[in-house]
Formats: sequence, C-alpha cells, structure tokens
Amino acid sequence: MRVLQISPTLVGEGMLTGQPCILIRLAGCNLHCTWCDTPEAHRGGSEVPFADIVDRGILAKSEWILLTGGEPLLQKSTNKLVKKWIEGGKKVLIETNGSVPIEKFLLDGVRISMDVKTPSSGEVNSHHKENLDLLRPIDAITFIIGDKKDYNWAKRFIKKHNMDAVIYFQPCWGRTSARRLAEWIISDGLNARLSFQLHKVLKIP
Ligand code: SF4
Repeated sequence: MRVLQISPTLVGEGMLTGQPCILIRLAGCNLHCTWCDTPEAHRGGSEVPFADIVDRGILAKSEWILLTGGEPLLQKSTNKLVKKWIEGGKKVLIETNGSVPIEKFLLDGVRISMDVKTPSSGEVNSHHKENLDLLRPIDAITFIIGDKKDYNWAKRFIKKHNMDAVIYFQPCWGRTSARRLAEWIISDGLNARLSFQLHKVLKIP
C-alpha cells in the first residue's frame, strides 16, 4: 500500500480530540481542495508491504489507530487492513473526504469522521450522498469553514438533512478564526460543535 506517514500522536480534531493514537496516513486523493494541507497526498508516499502496516497498527502502544490521508478509502486493500486491525484488538478512527462509499467500513470498533466539502474548498457536492444516511451517532460529519458563505451553506445543509452523526464546524486553518466561528455558532444556537485542530496548535503530526 502507498503510505505517506506513520507516527504516534494525539487525535487532532473531532470527537476523539486528544486521544493518543498511531497515525497512519495513506497516499492518494481524488479531490483537489483549494486549502489542502496535505498536497503531497497526490504524488508522494512510498510502497509499504501490507503485513508491515498491519503490524505497525497492532503493535502500537495506543488503543486507537487514526487512518487518514489523502483519501484512505481509495486503496484496494484498505478494507482488509481495517478488518485485520479490528481482529487484532484495535479501535480505528477513519477520516474520509466523504466522496467514497463508506458502507463496508461501518464495523464494530470503527468510527468514521467524514468531511462534507463546503464551497470554498472548490469541491462542494463531492460527497457520496448515500453516506449521509449511513453514518451512526458514534460517527462525525465535519464542515471546514473558510468564510461566512461556507458557514451559511453548512447551516442550510444541516437543516435540510436529518443526520444521526455528530456535526462539527471547524475553522479553515489560516482563513477563519475559531473565535469568529464560535461567535456565529453561539449566535445561531446551532446544533453543531466547534472543532479545533489541536495537532496544529501543538505542532505535532
Ligand atoms: S480531500 Fe483532503 S487530502 Fe484530498 S485534496 Fe482535499 S484536503 Fe487535500
């Protein structure tokens, strides 16, 4: 499998923020977000044998594996990889850009954190529509908010769709301040939580 990074760290955003984990970042992405913070996902990475990636996850000290990308669900062996980790007693948090069907990844021991791309990403409406109805209360949907237009778009989106997953609004790093986003959420009494990129504040992987 093509891998960009393997490193112990803390979950940086969403429902498990602060949880120790082993970060396994797969290469490859099918989208081109304007504010992408992992541009190397498209070209970089190196081939790592499947069995080695299984072991790196299972032998990690932390209970949780954070599987991210790029878009980690694009590689053919990803589903088998996640199942191996679960069989090995691990829990897996999968971060996905939302464009790939998630159905076969909704396993016991797996939690999904799915993006719904907002207009400023340049990839609005790229999400696989059926995913919205499949996400469970233990899963999350994250809207990255680059400006007030994104905020209003995401606000309309969550009112229109009846989703079981926990909703997060996250400021786009360098574009929107967390403070301003918090004020918008509070002012509207929105049914969404503010997410913050802890790993960027701490400057850890
Ligand atoms: S989905 Fe993620 S990795 Fe892919 S282009 Fe967008 S921000 Fe970058």
